[in-house]
Amino acid sequence: MNINIEVNYRSVQANKGETILETLTRNGIRVPTLCNLNDLSPTGACRLCVVEVEGRDNLVTSCTQVVEEGMRIYTHSPRVVRARKTIVELLLANHPDDCLYCERNGSCELQNLAVELNVRERKVLHKSFTQKLDLSSPSIVRDPAKCILCGRCVRVCDEVQSVSTFEFVNRGCNMYVGTTMLRDLNFSNCIGCGQCVMVCPTGALYERQNLTEVMDALNNPELVTVVQIAPSISVSVASEFGLKPSKDVNGLLFAALRRIGFKFVFDTAVAADVVTSEMATELIMRKENGHDLPIFSSCCPAWVKFMEQWYPNHITTLSAVKSPQQVMGTLIRNYFAPAIGINPSKIFSVSVMPCLAKKFEAQREEMTTRGLSDVDTVISTRELVRLIKLYGIDMQSLESQHADKPFNIRSSAGKLFGISGGSAEALARMVFFRLTSKELNQSNLNEIKVISGVKAYSFNAAGKTFTFAVVNGLKNIHTIIPALADGDVKFDFIEVMACPGGCINGGGQPYGDNAKFVRMRAKAIIDMDDFDAIKCAARNPVVQTIYDEFLGEVGGEKSRKFLHTQYSKRDVLL
Ligand code: SF4
Ligand code: SF4
Repeated sequence: MNINIEVNYRSVQANKGETILETLTRNGIRVPTLCNLNDLSPTGACRLCVVEVEGRDNLVTSCTQVVEEGMRIYTHSPRVVRARKTIVELLLANHPDDCLYCERNGSCELQNLAVELNVRERKVLHKSFTQKLDLSSPSIVRDPAKCILCGRCVRVCDEVQSVSTFEFVNRGCNMYVGTTMLRDLNFSNCIGCGQCVMVCPTGALYERQNLTEVMDALNNPELVTVVQIAPSISVSVASEFGLKPSKDVNGLLFAALRRIGFKFVFDTAVAADVVTSEMATELIMRKENGHDLPIFSSCCPAWVKFMEQWYPNHITTLSAVKSPQQVMGTLIRNYFAPAIGINPSKIFSVSVMPCLAKKFEAQREEMTTRGLSDVDTVISTRELVRLIKLYGIDMQSLESQHADKPFNIRSSAGKLFGISGGSAEALARMVFFRLTSKELNQSNLNEIKVISGVKAYSFNAAGKTFTFAVVNGLKNIHTIIPALADGDVKFDFIEVMACPGGCINGGGQPYGDNAKFVRMRAKAIIDMDDFDAIKCAARNPVVQTIYDEFLGEVGGEKSRKFLHTQYSKRDVLL
C-alpha cells in the first residue's frame, strides 16, 4: 500500500499500479460494470464504471485508469449517476422488451442496473436488430438481439480458454459479436464449455434447455425414469434454496428427485470410481509397454473436443475410458436394467451435470451401446434448480435420503472428480493401491515444478516412478503439448479440465459471485474427503460387485465393450 487517494471525501490507500476499480472493489466501494472481468484485460467498453476525478474535464473509466497519488475521486456524484443512467437507457434502446420470457429474467445484470439506476421509461427509440437466434449447438443458445457488446465472451473464450470462438465484426454502430468465420455455433470451433454463458451479463448466451424432455418422460407411464447427479452438484445448489452456500445437499437432492417422480436416483461419483479403476489398468499397462504416454484424461468433454480439433495427432494419448457420466449411463442401461427385469429401451436416463459440454457428449455417436444412447438427456445444475422449484419442493423441509442400490456407495475419491486435480488424485490413489496394497497419502507425493501454471507431482510405487500433471483451464495446453513433443517434459498422466477450478466452476452452475462460490465448493469437497472412510476407489465394495456381477476382469473384454471408446480428428475452421 503506497498510494494515498481520497474517495467520496474518505482517505483510501491504494496499491501502486492498480486501477481505480480494483482499489474501489478492495475497499468495499461498489461501482457498476457490465464489461469488466477479474484477471482479464480491461476494455472500458461499457463505460458504466465511470467516476469523476477532481481536475479532469471528462469522466474516467475506473477499470482502465491507474490510481495516482493524491487523486480525489467521486463514485456517485450527480454527474456520474446521470451518465450511468444515460448509458443504460442507450443500451435498452436496442434491447428487446421481452424480459418476462427471457432466460435471464431475475439474474440479468442489465435488468438489475436498470432497476438500480431507476430507469422507468424508454427514452431512446428502438432500432430493429436483424441477427437470428442460433439454436445449432446442443449446449448453448445465442440470441444476438440481447447482446450489449460488452465483449466478456470474446475475452473469456480467448484469454481463458484459448479457443477464440467469438470476435467483434464491423465497426461503429454496425458492430456485433459473431463467431469464427460467422458460422453457427455448432459448426464453429466452440467446445461447449459454457464459460461465455457464465460471464454474459444478459440473455444473449444461455444453455440449451432440456427440461421439457425430462418432464415428458416423467409423465410417460411406459418409461422408467432414472437420474444421476454429478459429484460437484451437491455442493453447488444450497444457496439457491436458502441453505448455507456450499453445504453438501446430496441426500436432499436424492429426496427431491424422488418426489419429482424419478424411479431411481444415482450418484455419478460411483461411476467415477469405476472410471478410476479402468484408467489405473490402462496407465499401468501403458507404463509397462512404454507407449502412448502420457495418458490425457478424457472425463471433460470440452477438453476432448479441444484435443480433436487442435491436436488430432495426440488423440491416441486420450484415455479410452468414457467419462463418469457415460459410464454411469451404460451401467444403468446394460447392467442395472436387466438385473431388475426392465427392458433397457424403457429406461429414460437423465444426467444432472455442472457442464454444458456434457449435453454435447451425450449426443456423440461414440456414446451408444447396442443402438441406444448411454444417456438420454442432460440437464445443467441451473435446470435442476428450476425443476425442483417448478415442482414446488421445499428443500429445507426434506429428510436426507440415500442413492438407490446397486450404485449406493461411493469413495470420496469419486467425489474429488468435481474439482481440478481431483481425478488425477483419485487415479494416483488407485495406482498406488494396486501396486503396493497400501493407501497413498500426501507424504507420498513429491511436488515438481516443470511448467509455470501447471501443477505436477510424482510418486513411487513398486519401484516405478509415476509423474502426474494437472492442467486447470485450457490456456496451458498450447504450452504443454509442444513441450511434450519436443521432449522437454515427460509425464505419465495429465488431467485436463476445461473450466478453471474444475466442474465446480462449470458452465452450467448457478450464476453469481463465482470466484467466492468456487472456493467454497472446493473446500466442501476437500472437507468431505478428509472425513470420509473410503478414500480410494479400490476400497469401494460397489465397484467390486459391478465387476463380479457384470464386467468381469478390470480392463477386460466386457469393460472395453461397455466402458471404453475412441475419438477421432474433428474438422473445423480454426
Ligand atoms: S454475447 Fe453476452 S458476453 Fe458476449 S458481448 Fe454480447 S452481451 Fe457481452
Ligand atoms: S462455450 Fe467455451 S469455447 Fe464455446 S464460445 Fe463459449 S467460452 Fe468459447
